[in-house]
Amino acid sequence: MEEKKILREQLFKNAFSTFITFTILVIIFNVVIYKRAESLLYEEIDEELKSLADNETALVINPRSIYIVRDTEGNIINQNSLGRLYDDYLDLIEFDKSNLNNIYTLKVNDEYNYRGITTMAYNVKTEEVVYIQLLTNVDGEIQTLHNLKTRLFGMSLMIITTSMIISYFLSRKTLAPILENYKKQTEFVQNAAHELRTPLTIIQAKQQLLLQEPESKIIDKSEDINLTINETRRLGKLVKELMLLATADANKLKLQKEPVDIDKFLKEITDPYVEYARLQEKTLSLDLNCNKTINISPNKISQLIIILLDNAIKYTAEGEEIKVSSFHKDGKCVIEISDTGIGIGDEQKKHIFERFYRADKARSRETGGTGLGLSIAQTIVKLHGGSIKVSDNTPKGTKFTIRI
Ligand code: ADP
Repeated sequence: MEEKKILREQLFKNAFSTFITFTILVIIFNVVIYKRAESLLYEEIDEELKSLADNETALVINPRSIYIVRDTEGNIINQNSLGRLYDDYLDLIEFDKSNLNNIYTLKVNDEYNYRGITTMAYNVKTEEVVYIQLLTNVDGEIQTLHNLKTRLFGMSLMIITTSMIISYFLSRKTLAPILENYKKQTEFVQNAAHELRTPLTIIQAKQQLLLQEPESKIIDKSEDINLTINETRRLGKLVKELMLLATADANKLKLQKEPVDIDKFLKEITDPYVEYARLQEKTLSLDLNCNKTINISPNKISQLIIILLDNAIKYTAEGEEIKVSSFHKDGKCVIEISDTGIGIGDEQKKHIFERFYRADKARSRETGGTGLGLSIAQTIVKLHGGSIKVSDNTPKGTKFTIRI
């Protein structure tokens, strides 16, 4: 529930920041395009206006232009030569005699758009100063710019919406594993706390019981004392295992690797277990044929083998067999630890490398299991760049295959 809320909040934040970023970018992009289009459209007209202002003879060339001559009061003095076409709105054309030789835009009657320029001239005939106002109709250009604006707006909306959708899905994709890790870490801490609390509660209860009977002899209470010792041992093991996993998680576990003759090394580790298994009326046999020297951390690999051997012995009944074998395949050393024990169901196989997973919690606790052994084994193998797999042994039991 908590993760979903965090995911939702984060997705919303990401989508929002993408929206802001893209909106700003798109606005800048649109303004640049619009301004560029506007200047391109007006460039020719403005140049023409300037050249018309400089050279009156060119006037006849552009039918979109109006040539207005005004007296110093602003009254139009060439109305007759302009024709009836402009009669309706000639008086509505703004005129500002202080703005000379600059290009400006005019709207006439709220309907027609013009680019214009005003110059001052001297009428030789009347010996008077006149103002020449040259206007070129730009309704077509304005319509083109308006169309461009509408298209740019539509395109921007599409880009922003698409980017928000893409950002939402990309964020989901990148956030999911982070949240999954977060969830795993939270679970790990909760499980660790729970696992640590159980032996502590037992130790505390047993010690209180002992205090209630101060007169009794140690021999009478040996069972309780033994239990306390076992739980303390269990606590110690758990703390050690948790420390190893936490250091590996933080990428702080440094392996002291060295070249090791793997068969010799496996024999040294398993030898004490041959006797240990025999005492429990189980058989432990070796078949070591890797014949290779590989670069490993002897400390960690022996921890890995011990975890698997321990399990094989733990989950095997009297009279059954455990086998440690090694061979060489595709340039890698393969180590197999198999047993004819109780075996692991297919559904359970999917989870056994998870932290604190125990197929049979009660039984595993009885045998001193914490549910961390196989996840530590997997961590060690991964640190060596290898792989570990579980499969069914034939005719029965379990087989762990390690490739390094
Ligand atoms: P534990 O400390 O409980 O043994 P592990 O991580 O070592 O925890 O193992 C996880 C679970 O996998 C065990 O609880 C057990 O159910 C199962 N398991 C591991 N090894 C074997 C095996 N050789 N045979 C049968 N079950 C096994």
